[in-house]
Amino acid sequence: LSEAQAKAPRGTFDVLGQEARARSAIEAKARSILEDAGYERIETPCFEATELFARGVGESSDIVKKEMYTFTDGSGRSLTLRPEGTAPVCRAYVQHGMHKRPQPVKLWYLSSFFRYERAQKGRYRQFWQVGAEALGSEDPALDAESILLLHHLLAELGARDLRLRLSSLGSPQARGAYREQLKQHLQSRQEELSEDVRSRIELNPLRAFDSEHPGTVAVMRDAPLLLDQLDAADAAHFQEVRSLLEAAQVPYEIDPTLVRGLDYYTRTVFEFTSEALGAQSGVGGGGRYDGLVEQLGGPRTPGIGWAAGIERILLAGSPAAPAPAALDLYVCVQEPAVRRHAFELLWQARSAGLRAEMELAGRSLSGQLKQADRHGARFAAILGDRETTLRDMQDGGQSEMAAETVVHELLRRLRTLS
Ligand code: AMP
Repeated sequence: LSEAQAKAPRGTFDVLGQEARARSAIEAKARSILEDAGYERIETPCFEATELFARGVGESSDIVKKEMYTFTDGSGRSLTLRPEGTAPVCRAYVQHGMHKRPQPVKLWYLSSFFRYERAQKGRYRQFWQVGAEALGSEDPALDAESILLLHHLLAELGARDLRLRLSSLGSPQARGAYREQLKQHLQSRQEELSEDVRSRIELNPLRAFDSEHPGTVAVMRDAPLLLDQLDAADAAHFQEVRSLLEAAQVPYEIDPTLVRGLDYYTRTVFEFTSEALGAQSGVGGGGRYDGLVEQLGGPRTPGIGWAAGIERILLAGSPAAPAPAALDLYVCVQEPAVRRHAFELLWQARSAGLRAEMELAGRSLSGQLKQADRHGARFAAILGDRETTLRDMQDGGQSEMAAETVVHELLRRLRTLS
């Protein structure tokens, strides 16, 4: 292998030790918060038909235009490593006839996603997201619940300096009419725009709000706003979401320029950012996608959901990585002849539900006791050719006993200790 090939590919990483434990803690917290709110775990395949994302996420999005890992399999099908979770969840909803279940159907996931992006801190080519989707209801209380759940999760995980930005994109009809207005505005001031924005006036004029190019920013300052043009039903829906958030005392800012990168959003959109993150400040976000299921060939079904990046949560917070669990027993061998007995004792202990390990690296007895200490073992069993010694690793007290009685004695002592 070349030097580059001997490393994990650019934009990817290995998850080790402390970080693996911190991630497990995030997963446990997400499971408890989301399952308590009625969300059920879902896992979808790592890859799907390319068409699902082309249609679901939208041809004009950055994801579909330049970030997908697309390949052809042995039978010539075009497949794509999932760049996001909402389209696959909607696909599963349709495939399994979930519209026949009591609505809304609430699902959550924690999975890895793939985007060919410029890799930097907080932005990777394989990254993890925790996400929650609720399908089958357009009740604004579901929007508020969804936002509050993400807020609760991020707060519990210690994400610092959080801001919640909120907006509404209205219905596709209102957005269609607005797009035309916005196009006209952009066309009338074309020469001030960045190259990139100018080339996408037709395809995706709304993305101009995301630009940091000074000329474009100036043009956008004078642009008409969709939020001022919502129809009565969309405006009332948005108002209700806002008042529910206010009742829950979760502060938010209205940001009429909030345009999320995916094409499927309707009505409510939101994003949490953390000042602690610097350039890649988005921790998580989402919104309503009332047309997506139908667009994928399913029945008319409203939906709302969000996804938050695990790496961003780790960067934004100070998640206390739990220490590895301490051992109950470390089995030491004084001479090779007793290794089989040691192995039997190890498995007796494990079968009894104890956390146990045995010596596997040929250390001297004092090396073995050091290793037991490193593992935080509460007891060590030292197997000699005739007797077995049980050593209390905290006070150094030792007692001899028959090997068969070690587990029984250990259980008795651990019970009195707890
Ligand atoms: P999106 O699916 O683009 O709305 O992203 C939702 C969240 O996923 C973002 O707020 C980030 O926390 C995270 N995220 C998106 N893209 C990446 C990436 N390339 N690397 C790491 N995290 C990401």
